[in-house]
Amino acid sequence: MRKFSRLVIPTAMALTMAVSSTALAEPQSNPNGPYVENEQNISLSSYMSNEELAKTLQKLEASSKGKMKLEIAGYSNWTLDGYKTEEEKGDPLYVVKFGDADQNKKRILITTQIHGNEQIGTEAAIDIIQKLSSGGKEVDEILDKVSIWIMPRINPEGADNTFEGKWYPTRYTHQTWLPENIQLPSGTKAPWYYNSVGSERAQNNNGTVVYGIPGYDQNRDYNPNLDFRIEDQDKAKVAEFLNNRTTNNSNFGGFFVTAEARTVSSVFKEFKPDVYVDVHHRGFNTVSDEDNRSVPVQIAAVVADPYTDPFTGTHYEVDKNVLKLGKQVNALSYLALQRGFSHYGAIQKYPDVNLPGTALGAFALNDTAIMLIEIKGQSQTLGQKQSGMLKETVKVPLYEVFKGLADDSIKNIDPTIYDAVPEASNRISDPTTRDADTGF
Ligand SMILES: [Zn+2]
Repeated sequence: MRKFSRLVIPTAMALTMAVSSTALAEPQSNPNGPYVENEQNISLSSYMSNEELAKTLQKLEASSKGKMKLEIAGYSNWTLDGYKTEEEKGDPLYVVKFGDADQNKKRILITTQIHGNEQIGTEAAIDIIQKLSSGGKEVDEILDKVSIWIMPRINPEGADNTFEGKWYPTRYTHQTWLPENIQLPSGTKAPWYYNSVGSERAQNNNGTVVYGIPGYDQNRDYNPNLDFRIEDQDKAKVAEFLNNRTTNNSNFGGFFVTAEARTVSSVFKEFKPDVYVDVHHRGFNTVSDEDNRSVPVQIAAVVADPYTDPFTGTHYEVDKNVLKLGKQVNALSYLALQRGFSHYGAIQKYPDVNLPGTALGAFALNDTAIMLIEIKGQSQTLGQKQSGMLKETVKVPLYEVFKGLADDSIKNIDPTIYDAVPEASNRISDPTTRDADTGF
């Protein structure tokens, strides 16, 4: 699918970093503020379509002299072990492998675009893949000790969505809830993270559009019990759980109804990474009342509380050494972006959440240190504005983490640096849609 949107933001709008502190009192209406206003057009033309992404990955593999392996881990509608949600297999989910699943090496897994409208993580991932595949002394030293697997764009359907003939990336996957197909009684309620009408925030953030293709928030479809499969469960029990609002909610793990979540989890289980990083987009904040720098990224090492699986009774908890490594990874990333009093360093922690159905939450509860990276702005609110700078805020920390894992210097990072990263605050409210943010 080719993208159609070739609209360009006027230059005056394109380079805005600072936000007036008056914006904090009221939803901002300043045309230089962070939200793109209605009369402005969002440009996404520099972002890769699914086709362009595939071609780019193939070229990088071919030029990597064997360093990089490009594999298809599954499809948007099919897993490799036979679970199907549609007749057609859909779009591939790629895994880019530098090194194998050797348990004697350090291992880091990175995913991007679990929400299809969060493109910059994928663009940054491509730059990282390019750097690793082109080699050199430093890269060779890293890859000697660390295996790095990257899954760019794990929601290819949301990424490729169209609305009224235009490229219109959305948060959700494309999939219809059909309980009978998984042996549940017809009429069984859908998981709470199902978007039955296919709705998304409108371009320029002007209300909501209904694009009409149902789907799921893939980042609620994971479960700390990575082997949870509805087809293996007592169907009456699952139906009862889904039909009850006190259990069908974000306090519990998801149902692995998407082929995408199953595919990513199968890669996770094969690789058993020490560190897992998931890259998202979010809204806008300034650092504080005194410091009006616009926050480029928020980070987090913790997104899930201890969890007891309601179906098996198994208890999951983040191991204390795993938590320490997670804090060290986040702290090193924070340090890597401190460059004097610049916008790069204006980092906050992501708000405290308990989301066991997210990929990060489920994987953290399975002995992997995590880092959430939340870049500011969604495609519907920021387009490709500041994408060069925002890519740096992903690439620079990750590269430092690779080096820190390779020479073990990550162990010398003080985890309390993470604890001291400023908490999320000074959110700039959305001038048009009154905010539909539902978490990362
Ligand atoms: Zn997200």
